[in-house]
Amino acid sequence: MLPMETLDSLGRHLRDLRISVTDRCNFRCTYCMPKELFGADHAFLPRASLLDFDEIARLARLFAELGVSKLRLTGGEPLVRKDIEKLVARLAPIPGIADISLTTNGSLLTPAKARALADAGLKRITVSLDALDDATFQRMNGVGFPVARVLEAIDNAAAAGLAPVKVNMVVKRGDNASDIEAMAGHFRHTGHILRFIEYMDVGNTNGWRLDEVVAGREIVERIGARWPIEPADPHYRGEVAKRWRYVDGGGEIGIITSVTQPFCRNCTRARLSAEGALYTCLFATRGFDLRALVRSGTDDDALRAQLAAVWHGRSDRYSELRSLQTPLQAGHKIEMSYIGG
Ligand code: SAM
Ligand code: SF4
Ligand code: SF4
Repeated sequence: MLPMETLDSLGRHLRDLRISVTDRCNFRCTYCMPKELFGADHAFLPRASLLDFDEIARLARLFAELGVSKLRLTGGEPLVRKDIEKLVARLAPIPGIADISLTTNGSLLTPAKARALADAGLKRITVSLDALDDATFQRMNGVGFPVARVLEAIDNAAAAGLAPVKVNMVVKRGDNASDIEAMAGHFRHTGHILRFIEYMDVGNTNGWRLDEVVAGREIVERIGARWPIEPADPHYRGEVAKRWRYVDGGGEIGIITSVTQPFCRNCTRARLSAEGALYTCLFATRGFDLRALVRSGTDDDALRAQLAAVWHGRSDRYSELRSLQTPLQAGHKIEMSYIGG
């Protein structure tokens, strides 16, 4: 069937679906899964409660019929999910899906894994790396993982044709903000696109404080003072990262200002958790249980109608309300490692 236009209550289309394939991760980033709170006794989801690849592929097909054209696999760490390339191979041929990408910490992205993902139909990859300075990065990832191994992962992705590779750096004042220029300098002229992400108040466990956010504006000023940059046009309306290019031809960077310049009015993203709950905002406090419907034999038409109904009812704009300093809902927010970035 032809994709439909599915609009929410604020007139926003349903275009992207982020699929979290696991809530587990082999890192303990301070801003996401601090090791003090995600210790050896932390209860991750039992395997039986995760959606299997058939269930994910079926839901992705129904989302595509409602207008989704972009999929992103995330987590937790998506590469800890066994045979993830087999899921990519199931998603790539879905009619209407034009783009499949994956966000990873890179620790398991060997040359063979990168090739398997590309062969299965993955189009693009984002590798997270928060610092070039080893001591800083090892402290931030919480498990002492070295920078050099992530740089290798980035090379492996590019060698497999998953280029340009995007590199995500979450900037946190007092932790890695001093590495902004070093990171920019390292990735200039490599063809990789470094994206600076404002530290967000996702979840309840990272002890977020506004004074630890480094505003995108400050990042642009600091980089521009070292290497002149100019704004570049967005690839499409509502692109989340603001693009800047080096005037000397050194490539481009992206700035994601979710805190200081929220982009809720263009937010076309739905999120599917590893256990099959549908979230219409990164800051949601409740999800819609799709797994219960899938596992109770609901047919495609009824399931598609439910998905559309959830999207039609959507009015989320958490980040805009945060910046208007409106009192926000006090509910228990969903953790980033559960819902995916
Ligand atoms: N484990 C994978 C990784 O780290 O790339 C994928 C999941 S991770 C939750 C997705 C992205 O969210 C990563 O780039 C991560 O740095 C980012 N992230 C996690 N917590 C964040 C926070 N509090 N603020 C901003 N970005 C965050
Ligand atoms: Fe793991 Fe990614 Fe969260 Fe870091 S940001 S703890 S790598 S899920
Ligand atoms: Fe989208 Fe929610 Fe983020 Fe706004 S706060 S951009 S609605 S995910």
